[in-house]
Parts: sequence; structure tokens; C-alpha cells
Amino acid sequence: MLNNLLFPVLCLHCQTVPQKSSHLFCEGCTPYFELRDPSDRFPLKELNIQVASALEYIGPVKSLVKKLKTGQLPHLAKTAASFLAAQFYRLGWEVDCIVPVCRPWLRALVHGIDHSHAIADNLGKTLSTPVYPVLRRRGGEYPQGRLNPEQRVSFSKNSFTLRKGEKIADKRVLLIDDVITTGTTLQHAINTLFEGFPAQIYALTLCR
Ligand SMILES: [Zn+2]
Repeated sequence: MLNNLLFPVLCLHCQTVPQKSSHLFCEGCTPYFELRDPSDRFPLKELNIQVASALEYIGPVKSLVKKLKTGQLPHLAKTAASFLAAQFYRLGWEVDCIVPVCRPWLRALVHGIDHSHAIADNLGKTLSTPVYPVLRRRGGEYPQGRLNPEQRVSFSKNSFTLRKGEKIADKRVLLIDDVITTGTTLQHAINTLFEGFPAQIYALTLCR
């Protein structure tokens, strides 16, 4: 209590003081964390795979992702995983393993975290499902936001390779990423996963 008076815990988005110090977000920001309609999917071009998402990528949810990405609050990976787990149960999917869409190594190094991997690890614990980090990012040292759409496509075309080791053949794979915007990254990740002959691929992102 005294600690909270000296160092009040502020809402991660708007910096006001939540009613309960154990809350990450204030009462005004919490409603933004409502789970999306699980039947609302993002269709990927030329792939017979639809991407489900847990949350809408707005305001406080964006703040959560940003804090996660930049490694400021690594324990938020657990929070993010709990939203994914909740949506996963609503989807009724059955999977054998979880594969994170890994970060480009340089970005993970700079921020001290591969948040996608960290989220997947936490989700794996919750779902009692093994995590296979089989996707390796080839390039991708540059933030994609700085590229135009044409560059983005050519840039990410060959940006994944399949790591040898864990086998995904004949397995039902749950691919995990933080945000889906154009779907390009996930598309390339899925194309690479196909090289391992999985039985089925499901894709779930934290936000859309
Ligand atoms: Zn707030």
C-alpha cells in the first residue's frame, strides 16, 4: 500500500491511476480489451487459411503491443498470451504445436526481446502445447513501416526459412503473431511452413 502511494501504478495507456493498483489499465481503457468476434477472420490471398485475432488494434491495445515490442515490460507477454488463449478456446481449434512468427534477429537484439516468441512460450504453457520456433527470419533488419508497399512485398518474399530440428510434418500448427495489417508477413510465414508438410495450419494474432 505504502509502495503504491509512493509509486502509484499508472494506466499503461493514459497514465491515470487505476482504481485497483493491480490493474494494468484504468477503468476507461479496460473496455478496449474486449475479445473480437471469433468468426470475424482476415482472409489471406491465395491461401485457404483464415486468420483469427483476439483484440482490435486500437488505443490501449496499441500501447500494450508497443510496450511489449520495445521490451519495456516483458511480463506483458503473459498478459498478451492470456487474451490469445481466451480467443483460442472460443475458436474451438485443436492443435499439436505452436509456432511464433519470429522477429528479425537484430530487432530482437536491440529490444532485448523477441516478443512474439515470448508470447508463444506463455501461450504454450497455458494450453499445455509445445512451442516450435521453426521459422527463421532471413533479413528483416529494417522496420517495415519505412518501406513502401511494393518494397514490403519484395522485401519479405524470402524473409523466412524453415529451421531443421523440430518436426511439424503431419502436425496441426498454430501460427502466432502480434498484429496483422496487410497479411503479407503471415502469408510468407505460412508459405514457408508448408515446406514442412504440416497437417493443418491455423493462424491467430493478438490484434487486428
Ligand atoms: Zn487508461
